[in-house]
Amino acid sequence: MSDQQPRSGKYVCASCLEDEALRTFAHEHGDTRQCDYCGKTPTTLSVVPLEDVTEFMGKAIAEEWCDPAETSPVDGGEYLVKSIDNEELFFRIGLEVSSDELMEDLLAAFADHDWCEVNWQILSPSRRWGSAWERFEHVIKHERRYIFWYSDEDDESEASPDHLPPSQMLDEIQAVINMAKMVKELHVGTAICRVRVHEGSKTLTYADDFTPPPVNCATQPNRMSPAGVPMFYGAADFHTAFEEVVDPTDKGTGKLVSGCQFATLTRLNVLDLTTIPAMPSYFAPEGPFNRHVIREVHEGSLAADQERWTGAH
Ligand SMILES: [Zn+2]
Repeated sequence: MSDQQPRSGKYVCASCLEDEALRTFAHEHGDTRQCDYCGKTPTTLSVVPLEDVTEFMGKAIAEEWCDPAETSPVDGGEYLVKSIDNEELFFRIGLEVSSDELMEDLLAAFADHDWCEVNWQILSPSRRWGSAWERFEHVIKHERRYIFWYSDEDDESEASPDHLPPSQMLDEIQAVINMAKMVKELHVGTAICRVRVHEGSKTLTYADDFTPPPVNCATQPNRMSPAGVPMFYGAADFHTAFEEVVDPTDKGTGKLVSGCQFATLTRLNVLDLTTIPAMPSYFAPEGPFNRHVIREVHEGSLAADQERWTGAH
C-alpha cells in the first residue's frame, strides 16, 4: 500500500489518531517528536510516520475490502459488483478524526481506486445472521413455535456459506453470545427480588405468595412467557421490581405492595444484556469476525429483540 502512495513525510501522534487501535499502534511503534497535526511533542513514545499508520490500516482494510479490478466481473466496461469511494469506505469502517488535515491525508492514502467487498459473492456474517433471523422469527411466530428445530427450509442450498435455516439459528445465537462473552455467572446467595400488588386486606407472609402463579392463573402472555406457561421474573433490587410491577393507576386504590427477596441456591449462568461489549475499532487485532459478532449484538436483529427481552426503552 505504501509503495503506491506519495510519502507525505508527516508525523502523527496517538492523540490525533483518536481510534483506539490506531492509538495503540502509535504507542507501540512511536517516537518522541513533534506531531505535524496538533503541533505538540508528547512526552511518551507515541508519534509515528503517517505512512506507517496508513500501511497498518491498509492491512486491516484488505481483510474485507479491495479494488474491484481485482475481483469484480465486468460487463460493458462497468463493474458488476457495487463499489464505494474512500469516503464511504471510512464511513463503513467507522473511522473519523477531528483534524480536517489528518482526515484528508488519511483519505488520500485510500483514494487510488474505489472499493468493493472482498467476499462479495457471499453475505457478511452480520447480514447472514440478519436474514436468517427474519426467517427464524417468521417460523416461530407464524408456523411452529416449539418445534422449529425441524425447520430446515432456506433459500440457500446446504452447500452455500450463507445457509442458515431456522433449525440452526439457536446454535448460531449461542455462538455469538459466547464469543461476545455475554454469559455471566450468578454466585450462590445472589438476591433476586419480587413484588406483588394485592388487596389491602391481605397480608403476604410466605415465599409461596411471591413465586410464579399456578398454571391455571397464568392466563396472560408476558414478556417472555406465553399464556399458560408460568415463569419466574425477578429483579436485582426492590426498586426495579416495584417499577416493573406497580402501575401508577394502583395509587389511591387501597392496594398494598409487598416484596420478597429470594436467594439463589446454586450457581446460575445468565445471559447478561445489560453489559454489552463496546463496538471495537475496525483495526482491533481480534479481526473482522469479532467485529461482526459485536455489531450483530449492537445493531442486528438480536439487538432489536433485546429491547423486548430486557424491557429497555
Ligand atoms: Zn497530534
